[in-house]
Amino acid sequence: MTAIILDGNALAQKLRADFRTRAEALAAQGTRPGLVVILVGEDAASQVYVRNKVAACEKAGFYSEKISYPPDVSPALVLAKIAELNADPKIHGILVQLPLPAHFDSDAILDAIAPEKDVDGFHAENIGALMQGKPRFIPCTPYGVMKFFEDAGIALKGKEAVVIGRSNIVGKPMAMLLLHAGATVTVCHSQTRDLLFHTQRADILVAAIGRPRFVTAAMVKPGAVVIDVGINRLQAGPDAGKLCGDVDFDAVKEVASAITPVPGGVGPMTITMLLGNTLEAAERAAKRGT
Ligand code: NAD
Repeated sequence: MTAIILDGNALAQKLRADFRTRAEALAAQGTRPGLVVILVGEDAASQVYVRNKVAACEKAGFYSEKISYPPDVSPALVLAKIAELNADPKIHGILVQLPLPAHFDSDAILDAIAPEKDVDGFHAENIGALMQGKPRFIPCTPYGVMKFFEDAGIALKGKEAVVIGRSNIVGKPMAMLLLHAGATVTVCHSQTRDLLFHTQRADILVAAIGRPRFVTAAMVKPGAVVIDVGINRLQAGPDAGKLCGDVDFDAVKEVASAITPVPGGVGPMTITMLLGNTLEAAERAAKRGT
């Protein structure tokens, strides 16, 4: 069997066209969706992510602004800026790019963002709402993954879903969304005793590990749907410098029924759902009249 390739660029384009139309309609009523991205420090990958987020907003017709701080900035200064943005009616989404430098309490920073502007969905209140199955904002990466299932008509009810990775930004919210969609969910992680036992019986396998080509064909049940969240830069070998996922794509695509590639899979969907969340925040603000 050769898997269907779930094309993240194509799906992202389709969704972004819809978001642009909705943003134009909203702007015609006097509300232009606005996102501020806060970047602390000089991490090269973070700089690229932030640049891409701001560019995607501008392309979608949103207002967008990047606020940069040096790595040694005082957390109090960042908190003061967040408070200012919380009160600014032009701004509907506030995102603090992670990771923050070690002298920051990341949770305190994330929880300082007004929950109705927390378009990353990382505020404790929004995580709680997601747990209850009444999300205000769904974290962008797992949200993007759910859009693949929806778009490709992949049923989740009653399926065995295995998520490898338990981070707050991917693994945990992913598991929660699959659970709410009716799947039976297992979350595996670095302490899991027999990973193979779990992955081999997964109808839906999501890899969010951060280890290049970790998931091999032998770990995948024939016909499974495989979602590769990983983004890794290969350090050695003939492909050194290239990006690859957590899944051994070439081998696994011969076993799976559907698979996301890297690049061009989950990656483009993450920024797309950030646009979706910002738009939704703006639409809600317009409805409230704030
Ligand atoms: P993380 O480092 O916070 O979490 C990794 C998880 O993998 C941990 O829960 C850990 O327990 C688990 N793990 C590590 N080694 C393991 C092993 N041997 N067996 C089983 N589990 C193991 O990472 P994260 O932030 O969740 O990101 C995961 C990957 O997804 C990274 O490659 C990251 O770059 C990528 N990512 C991609 C997007 C995107 O837009 N596509 C967004 C966020 C993260």
